[in-house]
Amino acid sequence: MTSFQDFNLADALTRALKEENYTTPTPIQAQTIPIALQGRDVIGIAQTGTGKTASFALPILHRLLENRIKPQPKTARVLVLSPTRELSGQILDSFNTYGRHIRLSSTLAIGGVPMGRQVRAVMQGVEVLVATPGRLLDLVQGNALKLTQVEFLVLDEADRMLDMGFINDIRKIVAKLPIKRQTLFFSATMPKDIAELADSMLRDPARVAVTPVSSTVERIAQRVIQVDHSAKPNLLAQLLKDEPVNRALVFTRTKHGADKVVKSLEKAGIPAQAIHGNKSQNHRERTLAAFRTGEIRTLVATDIAARGIDVDGVSHVVNFDLPNVPETYVHRIGRTARAGAEGVAISLVAGADELSYLRDIERLTKVTLPREDRRTPGLREAAPPAKPPHRGGRPGMQNARTNEGGNAAKGPRRRRRSNAKVPALPGNRQEPNRPSQGGGKAGSIQGVAFLHREGRPKNHAHNRNQRPN
Ligand code: AMP
Repeated sequence: MTSFQDFNLADALTRALKEENYTTPTPIQAQTIPIALQGRDVIGIAQTGTGKTASFALPILHRLLENRIKPQPKTARVLVLSPTRELSGQILDSFNTYGRHIRLSSTLAIGGVPMGRQVRAVMQGVEVLVATPGRLLDLVQGNALKLTQVEFLVLDEADRMLDMGFINDIRKIVAKLPIKRQTLFFSATMPKDIAELADSMLRDPARVAVTPVSSTVERIAQRVIQVDHSAKPNLLAQLLKDEPVNRALVFTRTKHGADKVVKSLEKAGIPAQAIHGNKSQNHRERTLAAFRTGEIRTLVATDIAARGIDVDGVSHVVNFDLPNVPETYVHRIGRTARAGAEGVAISLVAGADELSYLRDIERLTKVTLPREDRRTPGLREAAPPAKPPHRGGRPGMQNARTNEGGNAAKGPRRRRRSNAKVPALPGNRQEPNRPSQGGGKAGSIQGVAFLHREGRPKNHAHNRNQRPN
């Protein structure tokens, strides 16, 4: 598997990645970074959550460093166009995170806030400007900014920009850019109008796409256990004792939750360790090695931390907390049933929130999972009424093949268990609508690796307009 070392990125970048605990590039990063480092245009089909921001930010920062020149007044060397203020802020944060050791000058140009500060921010020129198309044009038309020195252009979430009616603004912006530039174009979907836009902007682009989720999830037996919140730790310990566990991966939504689960398991006499963003790289490697060799059979992880885990023989995935993004569920349970093996996924569902997440999952996968009810009688919460799965899945979601009633009861069963299969998920979808990107939480079942922004600093409100040395 590729590692970030293989890209020979500038030391300052590698250092920042290490500090961020990035070990393994995601598939979109592994494909995009080497090509972009060569200076080629790239057209990438990837959604938020796949790590696509780093896939363009890292090679661009590396190339900026190879030729570090002071930007001219009222110009930007890198222009990133994104559809929303939130996404723009996240992209700027990413650039600043990866560029934290290089005194990067960077700023935002987004609508909905007064322009004066943005005018001042670009006055001296910036290396990286992340903008929404409308505000960018305002700055250009107000002579606060010239686009003549842009060396790198990124279009992020191009399909969404078209959905939001930015096509004309984008065309106007592109017409003002130098022809000689590197363009990196990302879209979650590639319908005809997006492909045409890409064609008009890119020169001999390399195409990259994240691979569809494999159909291995078909071999996963899924159980849902409704339980009181406070009873989850005991139930988890019981399950891990009762089930024929080879290796179990337990998912929690938060880092703190992961640590708490480890403590409660240890109390119950089940050795377990946690990996998450707060653990050192060293600790993470030691833990993974112990999990691989079987020294520890239970690993507790957050979604981000788990994405680098490439371990065969995970017999059980337990969702201690259900994810609020349904695609994350599919990705989590895909950690079992690898390499032709069969796997079990058990979800502990407590409260109305998790019940509604479960319904979202069922709508996405088009499978209704039978519930085992272990809630304390009398404490059972009134469940909100079930919404039936609708034919096309959630608006903008990929359609998963219907496999209702499929029963995947396989292998020895120790106790009563309801099983259901997740349908195989098709590949790229030719459909423009998709869920809105909200704070990096939106996702798709299109990509194998799904990352969720965790602990991302919310510092994009202010301008990090530091001068380069
Ligand atoms: P993105 O798809 O770019 O929005 O990234 C989603 C989240 O994954 C962000 O919080 C990133 O910081 C994180 N991330 C991106 N690449 C990696 C990686 N190779 N390893 C761990 N986390 C990553």
